[in-house]
Amino acid sequence: MLAKESHSAERVLPLLPLRGLLVYPAMVLHLDVGREKSVRALEMAMGDEHRILLATQMDSQEDDPAASEIFTVGTMARVKQMMKLPNGTIRVLVEGLQRARIVQYVNEKDLFEVRVLPLASDEQTTPETDALVRAVMQQFEQYLKLSKKQGPEVHAAIEDIDEPGRLADAIAANLTLKLPDKQRILEAVDVVERLEIVLQILSDEREVLELEKKINQRVRKQMERTQKEYYLREQMKAIQKELGDKEGRQGEVEELREQASECELSDAARERVTKEIDRLEKVPPSSAEGGVIRTYVEWLMALPWTLADDLSIDIHAAQVVLDEDHYGLDKVKERIIEYLAVQKLVQEPRGPILCLVGPPGVGKTSLAKSVARALGRKFVRMSLGGVRDEAEIRGHRRTYVGAMPGRVIQGMKTAQTLAPVFLLDEIDKMANDFRGDPASAMLEVLDPEQNATFSDHYIEIPFDLSKVMFITTANSVHGIPQPLFDRMEMIYISGYTEVEKLRIAVDYLLPKQRKAHGLTRDQLKVSEEAMTRLVREYTREAGVRNLERQVATLCRKAARLIVAGERKRVTVTPKNLQSYLGSSRYRYGTAEVEDQVGVAMGLAWTEAGGDTLAIEVASVDGTGKLTLTGQLGDIMKESAQAALSYVRSRADNLCIAGDFTEKHDIHIHVPEGAIPKDGPSAGITIATALASALTGRAVNKTIAMTGEITLRGRVLPIGGVKEKCLSAHRAGIRKILLPRENAKDIEDIPESVRDDLQFVFVENMDQVLDNALNPLVTP
Ligand code: ADP
Repeated sequence: MLAKESHSAERVLPLLPLRGLLVYPAMVLHLDVGREKSVRALEMAMGDEHRILLATQMDSQEDDPAASEIFTVGTMARVKQMMKLPNGTIRVLVEGLQRARIVQYVNEKDLFEVRVLPLASDEQTTPETDALVRAVMQQFEQYLKLSKKQGPEVHAAIEDIDEPGRLADAIAANLTLKLPDKQRILEAVDVVERLEIVLQILSDEREVLELEKKINQRVRKQMERTQKEYYLREQMKAIQKELGDKEGRQGEVEELREQASECELSDAARERVTKEIDRLEKVPPSSAEGGVIRTYVEWLMALPWTLADDLSIDIHAAQVVLDEDHYGLDKVKERIIEYLAVQKLVQEPRGPILCLVGPPGVGKTSLAKSVARALGRKFVRMSLGGVRDEAEIRGHRRTYVGAMPGRVIQGMKTAQTLAPVFLLDEIDKMANDFRGDPASAMLEVLDPEQNATFSDHYIEIPFDLSKVMFITTANSVHGIPQPLFDRMEMIYISGYTEVEKLRIAVDYLLPKQRKAHGLTRDQLKVSEEAMTRLVREYTREAGVRNLERQVATLCRKAARLIVAGERKRVTVTPKNLQSYLGSSRYRYGTAEVEDQVGVAMGLAWTEAGGDTLAIEVASVDGTGKLTLTGQLGDIMKESAQAALSYVRSRADNLCIAGDFTEKHDIHIHVPEGAIPKDGPSAGITIATALASALTGRAVNKTIAMTGEITLRGRVLPIGGVKEKCLSAHRAGIRKILLPRENAKDIEDIPESVRDDLQFVFVENMDQVLDNALNPLVTP
């Protein structure tokens, strides 16, 4: 259908260029007019039936558009109202009337005047327009639903329009379209064409809206999901924080990794540490296992795995250090030096383990310390006394609650080196019971064939103990399990003589204690005489432990006097010794004041060195009972029986009534009852005391004796001669009866002591009694 154009209807109208908007016929709307040209156009319109042409300028930014920049199709309109606004612009109400084409610009100068040709469209409805209208309405409804911009009243208003052309215009006016699209609709004079354009635009628009909606939904979903995840994650963090892990554990794991990277570890250990840390990372935060793994990893990292020490041995330096730290002990030091020399030669420390055997306080520990100092190695000490459980040495498996490595590994941790001097104290005091045999574990520690891969139950990976220098100590060899004994080289230290003790006290203990108490040489002086008295009357021991304690007491007292300002310096003399240490504890000199009947002085070997042992026998009227008291061991009881039998067999020679066993009860007692005593070496002493009691002949108080007795009165050799003689000397005894076969042993006794003593070697009991018993004194 063609638009009707009639040239006759051409007319000249003022033109009002519109910016960014467009007016369709039948539309009423307000316009604010401010541009001069436009105002003039309006003024002119007022004079000419209020008619004006509204055409849109192509570029809405242009203030003074040229004629060519204005679309040629516009809308003829009527100015219905005009109102001057306070800011100088004019507000007009216009009503669109009809489309019109600009044919010619009549005036472009002070205002636009154009010749226009009105364009009329055919508003006839045809089936085609009906169909189009329906389609357009449908699309429009959808559009409204999707866009949600306009309310239902817009739909209602548009539904009321009957003319299809106007309908298209109304819809176009209500769409948010780009200017060219709007203009296209305006220029479509033909109704069908106009409807088609609108339909096209609507369906495009609807598609875009639908797409937009979909995108929106998707975006919202996406947003919701990420938001939800974020929220959940935050919540999880909060929960974990509340429970106190994961976050902390993450930090913990990183911290451990960093520590591990700085640690010197063996390959096996590093592999294990890495594995365990990985495992720790996966362990649920609240599980107790985390702590177990962590402790384990920390143990692995705390141990020395690689060797950094210089293991060279300087024999001369070692000798100097040993001499510096210890008085005497020449033989012992020599043995130690020999041992070190061998170690140096063989390079690989495969030799036997040193075992220092001797009573307490003779310097076993301090010798081991000196060895460490001499070799420039770390020193660690582990006491085996009372260790009865294998796990104490080798650790508990990690599955146990509170499991720990054994003491050997603990010692290595303290040492912080693979090659310390490791002192195993009191190896003879290890117990052995149902909890497992610690000795066999110890064997693995000490055996050079096995200890390069020592396995601790807790640590699990093999640990190298082969560079460790083990030194053990024992009070006696009896308690050392045989397999261990076989692997050790025994060095016996038997106790000090009085002279040695004096020298140790003066030259070593006093300076050491003075230093420990912060005293100078001038501030505390102890005369040699005083020290001798101290040794004799305040201590009675094989070692020097008590002696050191007494010296420490002197230092303490002196320190107090000096600090209190009572004295400037303290000098200890035999006279004032008592005022510092209290009255003396031991009587120096003979144990017994006078010769007594039924009391004989024996000599015993104890773990604390030797000791004197008085044996008492009483014979009272009775029925021949034999009573033994004083905590005697089985062997000692048996030797008492043997002694008794011997005396019975010799009753005639000794002038004892033969029936004494029927008419008398005999009581043998060994005082200092709390200490268990055992061994056969008291045999001749018991026999002497018995003979004395039964014959009434007193025993010479200056004599002590030791020896095993046979039923026939033979005297058999015994052990511990050196210790026994030293103790006899300490007790002030000067004559000692010894089995003949022990004659060779007196060489071991230090000369100073030996010279003081008189030895009588005996082969049988008759000789003993001859020497020990005084002749019967008949009143
Ligand atoms: P043990 O281990 O044999 O029981 P310690 O090594 O504990 O004995 O010695 C006790 C104290 O006596 C230590 O202070 C030690 O230095 C000192 N001591 C022992 N023997 C000597 C000695 N020959 N010379 C110097 N000091 C000694």
